[in-house]
Amino acid sequence: EKLVADKWESEEHLNHKIIDMVNTDNLRNNLIELAKFPHLAGTERDHQLAHMIRDRFLEAGFDTADLVPYDVLLSRPNRTNPNLITLEDGEGQIIFSSTYQEKPLHEDDSDPEFIHAFNAFTPAGDVRTEAGRGVVYVNYARVEDFDKLEELNVNVSGCIVIARYGKIFRGNKVLHAQERGVKGIILFTDPSDVAQEGVEAQDVYPNSWWLPGSGMQRGSTYMGDGDPLTPGWPSTAQAYRLKVEDAQLPMIPCQPIGYDDARVILEKIGGTPVPSDDWKGGLTGVAYNLGPELQDRYSNYTLRLNTHNVHQVHRSYNVIGTIKGKVEPDRYVLIGNHRDAWGYGASDPSSGTAQMLETARVLTQLISSTGWRPRRTLVFCSWGAEEFGLIGSTEWVEEHVNKLQERAVIYLNTDTCASGPIIHIPSSPLLWDSITLVMKMVPGVRDGATLYHEWEAHNVALNRTPSKIFTLGSGSDYDAFSFYCAIPSVDLTFQRDRSKYDIIKYPYYHTGYDTFYMMDKHVDPGFRIHQGCGRIASLLLKYFADSLIVPYSLQHLPEAMKDALDTFRKSGKRDKIINIYENYVLLEASLAKFADAVTSFQRQLEMRATNLDPVSIRAINDQMMKLEQVFILPAGLPGRPTVRHAVFASSQFDNYAPSGFPGISDLLYRIEELDAAERLKKEEEIKKHISDLTIMTERAASFLQDFH
Ligand code: GLU
Ligand code: CA
Ligand code: ZN
Ligand code: ZN
Repeated sequence: EKLVADKWESEEHLNHKIIDMVNTDNLRNNLIELAKFPHLAGTERDHQLAHMIRDRFLEAGFDTADLVPYDVLLSRPNRTNPNLITLEDGEGQIIFSSTYQEKPLHEDDSDPEFIHAFNAFTPAGDVRTEAGRGVVYVNYARVEDFDKLEELNVNVSGCIVIARYGKIFRGNKVLHAQERGVKGIILFTDPSDVAQEGVEAQDVYPNSWWLPGSGMQRGSTYMGDGDPLTPGWPSTAQAYRLKVEDAQLPMIPCQPIGYDDARVILEKIGGTPVPSDDWKGGLTGVAYNLGPELQDRYSNYTLRLNTHNVHQVHRSYNVIGTIKGKVEPDRYVLIGNHRDAWGYGASDPSSGTAQMLETARVLTQLISSTGWRPRRTLVFCSWGAEEFGLIGSTEWVEEHVNKLQERAVIYLNTDTCASGPIIHIPSSPLLWDSITLVMKMVPGVRDGATLYHEWEAHNVALNRTPSKIFTLGSGSDYDAFSFYCAIPSVDLTFQRDRSKYDIIKYPYYHTGYDTFYMMDKHVDPGFRIHQGCGRIASLLLKYFADSLIVPYSLQHLPEAMKDALDTFRKSGKRDKIINIYENYVLLEASLAKFADAVTSFQRQLEMRATNLDPVSIRAINDQMMKLEQVFILPAGLPGRPTVRHAVFASSQFDNYAPSGFPGISDLLYRIEELDAAERLKKEEEIKKHISDLTIMTERAASFLQDFH
């Protein structure tokens, strides 16, 4: 057998066939079915869809397709006793009571079963302020926002705070508030993030993709991964479970509201004015004062936050389907997407599932129509209960951790495939070249010749040149694959045009308006984005399933590590680190050595490439496949036991953001403010961590070499 990429490229006609086969009508029909009804994790409709997907896999001709159940802790509001935020005047009259359901605005969004707005895993609670004071507006509730409030002497301890959604993962907002002694937190969507072209009926859904005033972002606030009752272990029938009160859940009540309701609260806050314009949101006529006092004329008003969420164990299913590889059936090329949604979930996650079903059809049809069969096994995963904390994927990875670390070649995640037209596909550096190659093969979804052209043009518009692919932050089901197992992973999405919209999520994210109508009318009319997504997914799967030598771009790993260290240099962190531990230079030296080892590994591979025997092929592939695993810290990052990837993971202060060498940044955080004894202790931890990183980097260099 001849090499590799050649082989894959010599199958150009099959690649073209795939590109032709991904069909927009099928994608659209899939989405109609998937987004017809709300399908919250653990509900009847969620189970129905699990069966539907299993059946579709079997009908397509998969070798296996199974439902895999786990009993896991979920969280729901009380249907008959809704969560409320109220304002009472001095006489105890209720002046205002918040809403907990979106206004029905189109037939697609008027299902009465739709779950009320709530934040999963926040406790039931009943907190209220004193009369006339005790409410603080905390901007986005980032670390720097709380720092600013401290600087301004606005004390949040014992207060109810109101924060806008945006910039960072909501779970971090709740945690930041809780750590500062806040007793309750209200999360609102601000028009500056979700209604940038006006808030009148003609400006927002159903007339555009922007969010109307009653739209509310639901979402989990759990900061761990997987079932909160079984950290690190799968929630199988045999599993030991924590008591709910011992799980690491948020401790303060929390409730999301839309901007119509937020206005009523915000306009009553007085006290300290905003420090700068960037603290002001987009509600006209609202000053966005910080509080904690209410304005004088509301000096006898109290604000109350009263929630009734219930946490209970429910059954949740994954669906796992396989197409057996013909040469290396024990090497897995995986694709996965969650199935559960907060509501209709047209974008999140059903655009990904619509694509995954079409990808399954295309690849199985390729088998039946051409006699092709992948060299390695394809594994299709429909995850349960992602929205509550990446539960289905994490439990499955925890159950099969050894098998996956030994055999998984790549995990391709495809959650919200379509929320805008621009391909955004963060991944492990080992996958960057393959992704680029595949982007160059697929026609654009706008006017570009290829997706690569469109991606480049977007980067140029953002002054991000040369274009580069990012590493992964957290927020979807690749988390356990990438950060726990260090399996090369990628998250396939198409998102908003960032040169036009500077927002972290699309406006209707996790609201009652993530509907088929929204998708069909405003986001992806014609389903070309879905088609682009299906083409990329099918081609990437085939590329990794078929190439004789797995097409990893090893050189980008040390490069990306070096970039991360360069960031420390540029931000002045390097000097700080050297002051604590001069042996930090050894990490830099080891990294250079690792880069050299990669270069010579690749050179040797090129030299031998045309006459490799099957045993050598297998050995080389295994070496590359497990290279990233050398960077697993068995006990996890400092304070984060389930985040074991020491080099690339999510940031501690924003779960959605990527971070290079996160352990170093975490340990350095606010070290100056510690007292002498604590500081010394922290410095020792830093030394140990950097030493560990150095040894791992040496191991990585050695991993690519024979003993000599
Ligand atoms: N994707 C979900 C969200 O962003 C869950 C993320 C998580 O729990 O880490 O809300
Ligand atoms: Ca678990
Ligand atoms: Zn999702
Ligand atoms: Zn989601």
